[in-house]
Amino acid sequence: MTTPTRAAAGGPPPTSSIDTGYAFFEGRVAPLAEANISIATHAFNYGTGCFEGIRGYWNEEQEQLYVLKLPEHLERLLRSCRLLKIDLGMSVDELVQGILAMLRANGFRSDVYVRPIAYKSGRMIKVALAKIPSSFAAFAVPMGDYLDTTRGLRVTISSWRRLDDNAIPARGKVTGGYINTALAVDDAINAGFDDTIMLTGDGHVAEGSSCNLFMVRNGVLVTPPVSEDILVGITRGAVVELAREHEIPVQERRIDRSELYTADELFFCGTGVQIAHIGEVDGRQIGESGRRGPIVTRLQARYLAASRGAIPDYPSWRTAVYEK
Ligand code: PMP
Repeated sequence: MTTPTRAAAGGPPPTSSIDTGYAFFEGRVAPLAEANISIATHAFNYGTGCFEGIRGYWNEEQEQLYVLKLPEHLERLLRSCRLLKIDLGMSVDELVQGILAMLRANGFRSDVYVRPIAYKSGRMIKVALAKIPSSFAAFAVPMGDYLDTTRGLRVTISSWRRLDDNAIPARGKVTGGYINTALAVDDAINAGFDDTIMLTGDGHVAEGSSCNLFMVRNGVLVTPPVSEDILVGITRGAVVELAREHEIPVQERRIDRSELYTADELFFCGTGVQIAHIGEVDGRQIGESGRRGPIVTRLQARYLAASRGAIPDYPSWRTAVYEK
């Protein structure tokens, strides 16, 4: 069993410098080492980019790499672009094709993590959104097996509040907004926790640092609604689909902090964390001695099997990289 680490909760493990392989850059597949931007780039100076994190699962038996919910991620990217007035002039399908070409050029035969980014590429000193040139790029890194989280994550409620929709909208996956996440995660790690849960400005549960949150209470799955300053996660949507299949009722409603402490089961979901149960919040064990509960166990198994194509169900979740 691998010990869960910070990486389990917040996305891919920290990697050393990423500088080999191929990227999609300036409309074509190019060596990653040549996919560079100027220090005068608007997005570098002001955080005016938006991005996605997408997983690819290698299926050894089928010798196939499946990208999970690829069009859904790119649809969300284009919505984030609308927020930032980034006009890429590319459709979801064109973005899909660019990413697939980049993945094929790399020839990955392992799990991967894909990072598309749309950003204000103009070189200028000017805090604004309109009339600034924009670009799209993508790269990917091999990413090892998901981490075993049978011990359950130990999390704390952050003293930092989640960004308000009238400050930096959390529903846009905006690069600059991740300062909010970094502040919260940094505190949690320093205090010896795996991750953190962020509250909204008015003190209700929003989400994890890079993931959404579900609570199980009396057999019902409860998650904060989209108006609670959350990123509307693609995995969150997948969990709702799986819950429907298992006839588990789902409720979107506000969650109080103290409900977390007394929940039957709690789990994070997100591209990086996949589905990972929370064993402890602020020193209080969740459910039976902090062990993984029955509902999260069922959902997690189905999610991972469908993502990798180990079961034929949910074919629309998977985009095959290699042509057969
Ligand atoms: N919330 C935040 C703040 C995130 O960064 C992420 C990861 N993208 C999520 C939730 C989960 O979203 P998804 O399931 O689409 O990865």
